[in-house]
Amino acid sequence: MAVDTPLRRLFDYLPPALPAGAAQPRPGMRVRVPFGRRRLVGVVMAVADASDLPPERLKPILEVLDATPALEASALALIQWSAEYYHHPVGQVLASALPRLMRLGAGVVATGECWTMSGAGRDAAAAGEPRRALKQRALLDFLISRGGAATAEHLREHSASWRDAARALEKRGWLTRTQEALAQIPEPVRVRTAGPSLLPEQRDAVERVASAAPDYAAFLLEGVTGSGKTEVYLRLTGEALARGRTVLVLVPEIGLTPQLVGRFRERFEAPLAVLHSALTDHERLAGWRATWSGRARIVLGTRSAVFAPLPDLGLIVVDEEHDASFKQHEGALRYSARDLAVVRARLAGVPVLLGSATPSLETLHNVAAGRYTRLRLLRRPGESRPPLLKLVDLRVSAVEGGISTQATLAIERHLAADGQVLVFLNRRGYAPTLLCTACGWIAPCGECDARLTVHLAASSLRCHHCGADAPLPARCPQCGFAVKPVGQGTERIEAALGTRFPGVNIARLDRDVVRRRGDVDEVVRRMSSGEARILIGTQMVTKGHDFPNVTLVVVLNADQGLFSTDFRAPERLAQTIVQVAGRAGRGAKPGEVLIQTEFPQHPLLVSLLEHGYDGFAEAALAERLEASWPPFSRLAALRASGKTREAALGFLREARAAAGTPPRGLKLLGPVPAAMAKRAGRYHAQLLIESRERPPLHRFLDAWLPGLEAHKSSQRVRWALDVDPLELF
Ligand code: ADP
Ligand code: ZN
Ligand code: ZN
Repeated sequence: MAVDTPLRRLFDYLPPALPAGAAQPRPGMRVRVPFGRRRLVGVVMAVADASDLPPERLKPILEVLDATPALEASALALIQWSAEYYHHPVGQVLASALPRLMRLGAGVVATGECWTMSGAGRDAAAAGEPRRALKQRALLDFLISRGGAATAEHLREHSASWRDAARALEKRGWLTRTQEALAQIPEPVRVRTAGPSLLPEQRDAVERVASAAPDYAAFLLEGVTGSGKTEVYLRLTGEALARGRTVLVLVPEIGLTPQLVGRFRERFEAPLAVLHSALTDHERLAGWRATWSGRARIVLGTRSAVFAPLPDLGLIVVDEEHDASFKQHEGALRYSARDLAVVRARLAGVPVLLGSATPSLETLHNVAAGRYTRLRLLRRPGESRPPLLKLVDLRVSAVEGGISTQATLAIERHLAADGQVLVFLNRRGYAPTLLCTACGWIAPCGECDARLTVHLAASSLRCHHCGADAPLPARCPQCGFAVKPVGQGTERIEAALGTRFPGVNIARLDRDVVRRRGDVDEVVRRMSSGEARILIGTQMVTKGHDFPNVTLVVVLNADQGLFSTDFRAPERLAQTIVQVAGRAGRGAKPGEVLIQTEFPQHPLLVSLLEHGYDGFAEAALAERLEASWPPFSRLAALRASGKTREAALGFLREARAAAGTPPRGLKLLGPVPAAMAKRAGRYHAQLLIESRERPPLHRFLDAWLPGLEAHKSSQRVRWALDVDPLELF
């Protein structure tokens, strides 16, 4: 039995006292059990004949909550696999996989109001009745088109005023109203529109993946933004649906990819579940139930959807597989949904397709090793030339407010030619620093090793790391002199562009503008309609949106990331530049990309400009091999945080000592304080474990972690293990 506790083990229970003939608990079923003084919901992992505990110490299960397992075999297998691979208590992995209400015991079967035609109703309809009441007639026709039954939800879609007609038909005895398990209601699964005829590379990709089904195989679908990857997902989805299978599509952030969800809805008339972190508990439960019952044929979701209980799984797609948001790097279970998607595909025996314009180096390495098949889309449909990239040397250019003269002139030129312009800056707010020019005081965050960002419109100083928010002071708190914002954020660039291009409609997209659902849609609408001519934004603009009339992209500052201590920083920078550059010239007009930098000779930028992302990736992989960083070695990070620096470091030193001499091929590095040691009032530090091979690393962790758990440290800390950490700090 897996129970949600930090203990790394399963618990044995006796079967419940059940009436004769009642079903016994099976793996995947939820049960209520006594646990200490509490009663908890647990999941049956296996049924055993014997226990290590003496029988008199075993307690019986109190109640079996499911008639059918809430988790089918492959979902259960994935959970077990995750617990072993990430060295995490299986009960807590389950807690990450199940919606909160399911963990509290909510039933798996969704019921809802349902209207069904009676025999008399069918006869009447066949005879052309009712002749006068057209709304009732239309309702009957609608029901017939759905096989004679529909939920209230369907009927509402059919007509807003359906209820009166339904009541009238009920009185005539032609309809009956019931409360049904929703999975019993027939749902059409149809392709609404066929889609464009495929380009040869697309057709080849579809055929290769489709012919792998119904077996496991992993594919990388590589193609720049606009090259037709989504079209390939749609075709393969149609193909899997036609085989009676369900499809799981993982995306980085739902809020940022409204167009993708829209395209699946446009293409398929089939129940679709959307699972993401902004759902309420009830919405999440509803989505999970629709998935579990097989009612939802397509499940679109962010990282935790990798655990969604799809029956008859036929295909997994991971869009933008390089995206860092697939990695859960906080909280209890730290996992990579991209990696788990591949594992799940293997456990379920289905193909998995990883799509990206800028594949992660891990994935490219898997291609090189022959584990993944690379499929490439080289052309953009209806257009041939990729955008032209140029560096602007900030050291020799006239720069005003962060924008070089060259960039200003280019913006002017593209606006005059009726193009739209995208300006990218990965820093939100007005300015990253508030400075006193008299005494040199810089507004610091009291809780973090960080500066506060000026937000002028909100008249506040905010910390982007802990969320601290203070009013913007007019004078220096230290000497009383006037203070001034230094440096640029998107808010300031928006203001500067507004002054420079009066009368031009400017839109902004960053986390400050996007507060509610629908805010992104509004910005997208303004750009798509041509109302806005310039869009200034952060990382958010690199994701998912299609603005065919953007002809110029300006990257204001490419230099953050060039000299980071994190070995993955160059990869992230190259991906960002290529992704944002890919927003230019997606329509018929050719695109131009200007990248402002103080380091135009930096080898990374040079290789990117001369040889594209491929050339960059090759060079970057060679560097990783040289330094034996992943994917040429395996990493795990033991992270600790405490009230003092000494607490965090002290715990990790004790942990390191407890490890003794590590086996050959395995190195312990650290502990060291995190690059930003103090965050939200806590001090962070980490100890890295590096291994050439995977198995010795896991053997080492298996032996080491139980000791750490039992260890009564002299330090009060929170600690967590991160296997395959994505960010090193
Ligand atoms: P990606 O997912 O790689 O960004 P999309 O699949 O969204 O690319 O394709 C970009 C645009 O091109 C979309 O508007 C899409 O409808 C269109 N498109 C895709 N494939 C074709 C094709 N074979 N013929 C014509 N248009 C296509
Ligand atoms: Zn001062
Ligand atoms: Zn802070």
